[in-house]
Amino acid sequence: MPELPEVETVRRGLSQLVVGYRINAVQELHPRVRKSSSLSPISAIEGARITGVNRRGKYLWFELDRPQVLAAHLGMSGQFLFQLKDRPPAKHVRALFQISKGPLKKELVFNDQRTFGWLSVEELDDGAPTSVAGIGLDPFDPLFGKNVTVKNYARRHLKIKTALLSQGIMSGVGNIYADEALWRAKVHPEVLTSDLSVKKIELVIDSAIAVMGEAILQGGTSFDDLYIDVNGESGFFEQSLAAYGQTDRPCPRCGSLIKRIVVGGRSSHYCPRCQRTR
Ligand SMILES: [Zn+2]
Repeated sequence: MPELPEVETVRRGLSQLVVGYRINAVQELHPRVRKSSSLSPISAIEGARITGVNRRGKYLWFELDRPQVLAAHLGMSGQFLFQLKDRPPAKHVRALFQISKGPLKKELVFNDQRTFGWLSVEELDDGAPTSVAGIGLDPFDPLFGKNVTVKNYARRHLKIKTALLSQGIMSGVGNIYADEALWRAKVHPEVLTSDLSVKKIELVIDSAIAVMGEAILQGGTSFDDLYIDVNGESGFFEQSLAAYGQTDRPCPRCGSLIKRIVVGGRSSHYCPRCQRTR
């Protein structure tokens, strides 16, 4: 499932390849591709020019030369790809965009095997689409405040793994980077946020920023083969994973075998020696 580094990789690719292009035609090819709360069919943005591609957490949005934006969530397996003659056609196309800039024409597809992704025409509310209103700032947002985020975690009584996955306090972290951040910070996934010191919560946030920053540089993690960037390329960060998906493999720090437990319904990987409950 794409998390912040994967969505950021897609955003960067789209920024380079679609900004300045006009949307000439949109086809919705699956009944679930449009979010039910969308203000209109996606074809309502025909004629608009794309002026930017923005992101908060795992949400993307295309800024247009009009008040509405096209918001998008990749869900489990959403991909933005260009149909190219020298590439096999995408197999699960849910929406198709004909875009052009002067004589340049492109066909952008939203491909989504598992159909949990969506597109939505929305208004901006305080700088973000309405779907994104309840989502916390992600730690790469210039307005992100670390001190207030630490306080918001500390006043909750949630297991730290669950707190990291809830997108309301800080967004962008999913199962992979939560496990990696906790491994780096040497924090057990089941410790309650209210039992962690301010320093330790800061360390978890700093670790999340560091591991996601490194993953962005490697184009993200393609652990389940469903994530690819706009050029059809996989990310390389799975080679750097220390804990996630490493059950029974040695911890890169101490050599103990990585364990898998379920926390809040999500599989969690940790080192029993480096990450203790006390
Ligand atoms: Zn260890």
